[in-house]
This record gives sequence, C-alpha cells and structure tokens, in this order.
Amino acid sequence: MDANKLQSILITGANRGLGLEMVKQLVESGSANCHVYAGCRDPDASKSKPLQELAKKHSKVITVVKLDVTNPTSVSDAAKKVGAHLEGGRLNLLVNNAGILPRGTLQTTTEQDMQSSFDTNVMGPLRVIKEFLPYLCKAAKSCPQPGMSCSKAAVINISTLLGSITKIPETYNFYPAFAYSISKASLNMLNQCSVNEFQKEGIMFVVLHPGWVRTDMGGPEASADIDASESVQGLLKVMRTLTEKQNGAFLDYKGNLLPW
Ligand code: NDP
Repeated sequence: MDANKLQSILITGANRGLGLEMVKQLVESGSANCHVYAGCRDPDASKSKPLQELAKKHSKVITVVKLDVTNPTSVSDAAKKVGAHLEGGRLNLLVNNAGILPRGTLQTTTEQDMQSSFDTNVMGPLRVIKEFLPYLCKAAKSCPQPGMSCSKAAVINISTLLGSITKIPETYNFYPAFAYSISKASLNMLNQCSVNEFQKEGIMFVVLHPGWVRTDMGGPEASADIDASESVQGLLKVMRTLTEKQNGAFLDYKGNLLPW
C-alpha cells in the first residue's frame, strides 16, 4: 500500500479488535492518503463508540458503514452506500476481517456453532466480495501500472493458523476450535478459488494470519502473544509489500509463509 497511491479501503468488523486498530493505524500514520470505509454491524451501540470517536476525529478520511456480513441486505445496502461515495467507483482494498470464534471440540460443537461460524467466517466474506467486486474490478482496470498490489485492487482475507490443516496436530490440542478451524480452512479455499477466477482481472487475493493477539477474541492480557498494535503494524507492512508473486499466499503478520 503505497501511501501515495492507496485511495479506498473497506474493512469489515472495524468497531473493535484488529479491525479498529487497522482503521486507526491507516489514518494516523501521517503519510496516509486513503479513505477508509469502516464496516460495523451496529454503529450506534456502545461497543462502536471508539470507532465513532475516531471517525469524528478524522471525518474526511473515515466513513462508518453499517455492515452485518451475515445479512445479505445489509451487505448490498453497504455496497450501494460505499459505491456512491467512491471516487470513480473504485475500491482498491477489501479487508475481510469480521469473524467469530465459538470454542469447542467435535463432541461439544453444536449445529448452531457450525452454522454461525460458516455464516460469518465464510459466507460473510463471500457476500462482501460479491457485492464489492464491481468496484474492485474498476480499480484494477483503471490502474495503468502492470502487476498486482494492495494499492491497485486486492482482497485480504484475515484467517488464522487454526485454519491450517497441516498445523492441526499442533494447534487443535492447544486450542480446540472445531467450527472456527473448519470455517477458516474454507475461507482459505475461498481465497484460492478466487485467485484462479480473478487473476485475469488483476485482483490479488491473499490470506493473512494476524498472530495470536490480545483482543476480545484472542483472550486476556497475559495469555496471547502480542497486542493489536504490533499485529496490525505487521499486517499493514506485509500488505504494503505484496505483489502478484504473493497472489494466493498464506502469510503471517511477519510475512512468513504458512502451510495450508
Ligand atoms: P474481535 O472478537 O475482537 O472482533 C471481531 C470483530 O468482528 C468485531 O468488530 C465484531 O463486531 C465483528 N463481527 C463479528 N460478527 C460480525 C458480523 N456478522 N458482521 C460484521 N461484523 C462482525 O476479534 P479480532 O479483532 O481478534 O479478530 C479479527 C479477525 O482476526 C477475525 O477474522 C479472527 O478470526 C482473526 N484472528 C484473530 C486472532 C486473535 O488472536 N485475536 C488470531 C487469528 C485470527 P461486533 O462488535 O458487532 O461483534
């Protein structure tokens, strides 16, 4: 994400955790030249107050958008609203960050856990990609530079090491999250299918693992490895360096390649 080139970014689940930190770092970096559309399913709730305050402080470069990724009407309404605001109808970067994590093993996971995990972590990104695709295509088409980048047209799917099938022997015993792991492995597949489908359009699709981060999802102060600030610094640094060589890569917040 070259600060001089990046124009428009949509981040889902931007009212707390990693999403909020991403919006914050993007607009407070000093050299930022972007407009951030901060997706939030309940903008008027008290949990969204930090985002609303940030948006008020940076009203020229943040637009809070009501967006519940599990609700098709909400996603299409958000796409209409953002689309009307986008310069030239171009969206350069979509970050599918919203997610949920029901903890449990095969034996304790309920049907509802499976359904809600899929609805949020797989169908959510799919709905958002489908609705915002025309804007990503426009951004890719109108960019004169060859190759791929996050400042041209890209989708970043925030996944997790728990979605790595190769790593399950290590991760599952340590943190059993049956529904979550299966849904994120599906998100990884969604990414790879998209790579093949949209290569010719010039839209890059990359999967990123943010590390084990101290957020509501990642857990309390003492247990997780890093704070949201460190994770997001890493994620944004990785995003800035991505080219077509990483199209379809699964990377962590330090830029290390992860096994599927
Ligand atoms: P949090 O639980 O702190 O935040 C989750 C965010 O997703 C919230 O903004 C929440 O909004 C939003 N969200 C949930 N459901 C929906 C929905 N239906 N529509 C729109 N937004 C929704 O999680 P993190 O910030 O820690 O996680 C962000 C991403 O990073 C997730 O995809 C997660 O899987 C991934 N990740 C996190 C790790 C960690 O250690 N924290 C490790 C690996 C991956 P609301 O406030 O309305 O609930």
